[in-house]
Amino acid sequence: MTDLDAARRELERALGPDDVLSDPLALRLYARDASMVEGAAGLVVFTRSTDDVATCVRAAAMHDLAVVPRGSGTGLAGASTPIGDALVVVTAKMHRILEIRPEDRLAWVEPGLFNLDLGVALRGTGFTYMPDPSSQQVSSIGGNVGTNAGGPHCLAYGVTSAHVLALDVVLGDGNLVRLGSEGPEAAGYDLRGVVVGSEGTVGLVAAACVRLTPEPPGITTMLLDFATVEDCAATVSDIIARGVVPAALEMMDRGIVRAVESFAHAGYPTDAAAVLLVEVDGIRAGVEAEEREVGAAARDHSVGTIRVAGSPEERALLWKGRKSAFGAIAQIAPHYHLHDCVVPRTKLAEVLTGVYAICRREAITVTNVFHAGDGNLHPLLSFDRSEPGVLERVLRTSEEIVRLCVDAGGSLSGEHGIGLEKRDFMPLVFTENDLAAQACVRSAFDPSGRMNPQKVLPDGARCGDFAVAAAGTDAAGVGDAARNLPEDSWI
Ligand SMILES: Cc1cc2nc3c(=O)[nH]c(=O)nc-3n(C[C@H](O)[C@H](O)[C@H](O)COP(=O)(O)OP(=O)(O)OC[C@H]3O[C@@H](n4cnc5c(N)ncnc54)[C@H](O)[C@@H]3O)c2cc1C
Repeated sequence: MTDLDAARRELERALGPDDVLSDPLALRLYARDASMVEGAAGLVVFTRSTDDVATCVRAAAMHDLAVVPRGSGTGLAGASTPIGDALVVVTAKMHRILEIRPEDRLAWVEPGLFNLDLGVALRGTGFTYMPDPSSQQVSSIGGNVGTNAGGPHCLAYGVTSAHVLALDVVLGDGNLVRLGSEGPEAAGYDLRGVVVGSEGTVGLVAAACVRLTPEPPGITTMLLDFATVEDCAATVSDIIARGVVPAALEMMDRGIVRAVESFAHAGYPTDAAAVLLVEVDGIRAGVEAEEREVGAAARDHSVGTIRVAGSPEERALLWKGRKSAFGAIAQIAPHYHLHDCVVPRTKLAEVLTGVYAICRREAITVTNVFHAGDGNLHPLLSFDRSEPGVLERVLRTSEEIVRLCVDAGGSLSGEHGIGLEKRDFMPLVFTENDLAAQACVRSAFDPSGRMNPQKVLPDGARCGDFAVAAAGTDAAGVGDAARNLPEDSWI
């Protein structure tokens, strides 16, 4: 039997009353992440130590509450959106850097640390932490681990998984385990790898040991503009085909460039159909050679101008344009739905054409800003929720975009995860047996099914007696879970 009141009293005694929230307004604030879907929290707690985390998970077990781990709540798939009377465990007050060991190229950090704060602390050491989600000013390392976050500089260096050496994890029974190791290869199964990207469904990360990467000695940042989206997309494939893997290869279409430019004033060309922001790094001679190759590829596809940042300030300005894109879209409409599909790089132009056609048909405004080098598309649907019928059109458009990407040989998510929004699309890319294998892994870590129960796997995925919890919906049809949430679940 869930007993929220008893859980609240127990947690107030253990953590102190200031770190336990139960009034309706506070609960509402933690009822959603940055996606479109809103749930309801039963209780919100802030942890300050690994012991606090274990205490919360044990209290949840005692009072039969689900546990929803939460960092900064910037997730875009509803993965930290609580459903029902869940206990939301917020790690934001666990934000210490425990140690930085450049000689071992690693750092231990608490999960609530903002990604950018680690980068700032590393300045002057000659090392950096490579994953740089555009939300890095506010998203937490724990959340980045939970979603296996990517970012513009993950093309050459790899997403979060490639930069996590070991994790201290509190499991659903409250026990603490260390998975992975500080050394290059841990013996046995790669259970660290299971946790990265598991969206809080197998345990709660209480500390992370992350890999530090030497700062590259040379960097060149270029902005290329094109008269057609097709030429821009073809340049992406051509650059890679020439053997150059840039540190970053980002594409923005005209709609997003115009929104960004009036906001960031970065000097982006507002008449181009699309632009590419390309960064190559490494030793100086290599950087110069790669810069020439990028230029040659772009000229083969009728590039307009090639602007090379001439100073660190100009480089920062160009990146400001890219990284403020999501903030800038508030000028277009008050609400957004951001997609995150991956398609083969060679299909970028074809899929983008399809995305524009779907959105035109449904009369939904779409702009595109994305990690083109990874084929990681982010169609951004802008709308005003007060317009009658618009939500249905947005959801229909979303489903069509997902199907388009999957049909092109793509996958459901490049970096934002599956969460609530995409869990019932999983059968589009996985067989029943595939899903059962994933449910078995999940149940091995969390046989109680207490950890973030309605996320990632669809209704019906099961391993023996272990079944994934329903998301408060009746139907289990592909793509229906998010749609079948009650109307007032949506923003
Ligand atoms: C403007 C904007 C730009 C963005 N740009 C990018 C981008 O470039 N790349 C990218 O990948 N994402 C991006 N995102 C999405 C989001 O920032 C990332 O998914 C980020 O990793 C989430 O971190 P968070 O701290 O906000 O996590 P939350 O949203 O709080 O949680 C995300 C998931 O991780 C789990 N989790 C959180 N903490 C823990 C923990 N300690 N242990 C176990 N599980 C945990 C949660 O349960 C949930 O499933 C962007 C979002 C916004 C709003």
